[in-house]
Amino acid sequence: MQCPICYGEMELVSDETITNVNRCGTCHGLHFELLNQKNLDDVAQHVHLDTGDDSLGDKYNEMVYVECPKYDMIMDQRSIDDPIKIRFELCIACHATFLDAGEFREYMSDEYHDKFRELLPEN
Ligand SMILES: [Zn+2]
Ligand SMILES: [Zn+2]
Repeated sequence: MQCPICYGEMELVSDETITNVNRCGTCHGLHFELLNQKNLDDVAQHVHLDTGDDSLGDKYNEMVYVECPKYDMIMDQRSIDDPIKIRFELCIACHATFLDAGEFREYMSDEYHDKFRELLPEN
């Protein structure tokens, strides 16, 4: 699978207990095949999959037009700035989500978790 952000090669890093998670070998972004309010808490047990350096994520975070690898359509950008800044790509067709390196770790922390969850589809 090709990374929708930097076009690097992505590899499957999740086990079968959660949704498929692919990690990019170049930008270290994470692509979740399905992420929603229902499976978030299960997926949250796997923050160790986010091995990338925060600075890598910052470098690629400004990309606005990201195509879903599955549907060839532009992913929606979900974001809030207040009280904290959260920004990520979500495909409204298949509910795949792309998070830049370091963002998954950040959004699963107590401070961000609830706000991030609200931005995800219900199922
Ligand atoms: Zn990449
Ligand atoms: Zn999609």
